[in-house]
Amino acid sequence: MTAGISLVPGKTGAHRAPLQYEPDSRFNGFAAPSALSEGNTAVEYRRMEDHNHQTPPSDLTLRVKALESLLVEKGLVDPAALDALVDTYEHKIGPRNGARVIARAWVDPAYKRRLLHEATAAIAELGYGGLQGEHMVAVENGPNVHNLIVCTLCSCYPLPILGLPPVWYKSAPYRSRAVIDPRGVLAEFGLQLSDDVEIRVWDSTAEVRYIVVPERPAGSENMSEEDLAALVTRDSMVGVAKVKVAQAGGKA
Ligand code: FE
Repeated sequence: MTAGISLVPGKTGAHRAPLQYEPDSRFNGFAAPSALSEGNTAVEYRRMEDHNHQTPPSDLTLRVKALESLLVEKGLVDPAALDALVDTYEHKIGPRNGARVIARAWVDPAYKRRLLHEATAAIAELGYGGLQGEHMVAVENGPNVHNLIVCTLCSCYPLPILGLPPVWYKSAPYRSRAVIDPRGVLAEFGLQLSDDVEIRVWDSTAEVRYIVVPERPAGSENMSEEDLAALVTRDSMVGVAKVKVAQAGGKA
């Protein structure tokens, strides 16, 4: 297989991307990994409420707070309903669902085949699905292939199994540079891939959403499915990180 970079735009949906991308100097100065790792604004806002620390919240967080205050003041939303919504996305529709899918694929070869062949049905076997997860495609990493997910036009994301997209996923620099210079973007996330690894960039659409099946890490051979699921991170299922055994409880 020829090493290099291939862009694989979604075949259906309104968000089909152009096949050719030209470097754009406007997107120089891509955010540092620490900034890229910021969480969802709504979650950030809730955490701000929970902790009385000295770090000033971001402008976006303050705008969310102001908007929520107005909506509550006018009686248009119930704060308890907002809390329930955030809790749902944090704990019930979050990336732990995707992690269970990946762990099952690692321990059950037949399930993995079904996942790669018809992801939506395989994911539904574990009870996950719904809005923005109706047409899933699973792409598998290997020693010589690395997959990366992006939505070049907005922020299409598989909500039922990965939850809400992180701020960096929705940013213009990520959306453009993921296809212009995926190897460079991955390096900024701390993931250095050698030149003989082919990078496949998958452009999500309004209809088709992707999940990366990361490589099962060395040292995890004797781990249970539950422990394996605990290793799998959101970033590894988007393709900006690999799964490492050390990520779980400091195991080496
Ligand atoms: Fe989109």
